[in-house]
Amino acid sequence: MRLTIVGSGYVGLVTGACLADLGNQVICVDNDTEKIDLLTKSDEIPIYEPGLEELVKKNKENGRLTFSSDIEFGIKDSDVIFICVGTPSRDDGSADLTGIEKVSRIIAEHIDSYKLVVEKSTVPVETSEWIKKTINTFKKNGCEFDVASNPEFLREGSAIEDFMNPDRIVIGVESKKAEELLKELYSPIETKIVVSDIKGAEIIKHASNSFLATKISFINAISNLCDRTGADINAVAEGIGLDSRINRHFLKAGVGFGGSCFPKDIKAFIHISEKLGYSFGLLKEVEKINQEQKDRVIRKIEELLWNLPEKTIAIWGLAFKPHTDDIRSAPSMDIIKSLLKEKAKIRVFDPEAMEKVRKEMGNRIVYCKDVYDAAQDADCVILVTEWNEFKEVDWDRVKSVMKHPAVLDGRNIYDSGKLKNLGFKYAGIGRR
Ligand code: NAD
Repeated sequence: MRLTIVGSGYVGLVTGACLADLGNQVICVDNDTEKIDLLTKSDEIPIYEPGLEELVKKNKENGRLTFSSDIEFGIKDSDVIFICVGTPSRDDGSADLTGIEKVSRIIAEHIDSYKLVVEKSTVPVETSEWIKKTINTFKKNGCEFDVASNPEFLREGSAIEDFMNPDRIVIGVESKKAEELLKELYSPIETKIVVSDIKGAEIIKHASNSFLATKISFINAISNLCDRTGADINAVAEGIGLDSRINRHFLKAGVGFGGSCFPKDIKAFIHISEKLGYSFGLLKEVEKINQEQKDRVIRKIEELLWNLPEKTIAIWGLAFKPHTDDIRSAPSMDIIKSLLKEKAKIRVFDPEAMEKVRKEMGNRIVYCKDVYDAAQDADCVILVTEWNEFKEVDWDRVKSVMKHPAVLDGRNIYDSGKLKNLGFKYAGIGRR
């Protein structure tokens, strides 16, 4: 099939490269001309995502994947148009859908034959109605089109694997033609295709992310009880999660969830529910627990170090999770900002996210070349992102360079007994 992907970010670029690899002819367009220049003229890609650079290169070389900043050309050339632009939070928590509206208008102005317009961006329920209305209002001819919802569930860090081997594919459609086109497109992927109406598909995406975030806040709330009683949250989570009705995924206590999806999608789900007349109290509590979790980190450092002004804190891990360079709504950023407010000095290291953090934080913090460099003269190390390379560190060496050996294990991955025996003060999240 001939496909156009509008928005070549984390989702659009992965979608474009994977669909090209499955044999389709794909144009990825974006209004960020710098991004398109980089993708067209070099073998580099603008983000870090394992395996993506190679997949993009391969499909560019075999001619199935091209890039353009000319959205009109992309629209004229394709049968199916995927909208993958960002849908960030506005100040009131609602999703900013101006990008979706702009793309819908351009589609309307340039539609010259039947098109299937697919929402892949995460959007509030009933967005498809607005897309339809917009295209109908601005199109200059009688060309037919369908709108469908095909929410994306990939995870940054394992995006290609997730796209090619998903737990399910959700398609929300209201015509047989749209259903058949999407089923044919996804036929090379072996998985269950869940077909629903469009509103159902839109709700599925927000509900899935909200449910996962709820599990995280639930176990973080339980970790509060563990902190107060001395029980170990890791054992408690295992005891809960081995029940197959519950399962262990997303039952890890830590510094709170972040990233470009959960925080904004929960806000948007609360907002759209409110607009529809339902107050989603459960999700408001999920958000509140998540915020408190980040505040708890600061209280825990105070318990280890007493006063924070002039203390040096090493932050290990900045990306919102391992295997990505994405720092959007990363807990590390909130923690760093709170510590700076307390006049602490910050030294940081992350294997992939340093450049993005440098752009946001400038010279307010010190950028280090590895975990040992970050720990130099530090009063405390905080593990924020559990990169594999942080799991096996030489603790004798860490201790020898620190001013005061204290560790806040924000992901509960270290052997607390071993660290205490080596002379470290240790604090975990719901674990001593
Ligand atoms: P992103 O910011 O990485 O990419 C969005 C791209 O769209 C950018 O390159 C931007 O320049 C481009 N863009 C914005 N407005 C445009 C316009 N009018 N015309 C052309 N291009 C435009 O965002 P992302 O992480 O890829 O997320 C995209 C959508 O997918 C969001 O709705 C997000 O919630 C959803 N989603 C993201 C993930 C994830 O893990 N990142 C997973 C599932 C769903």
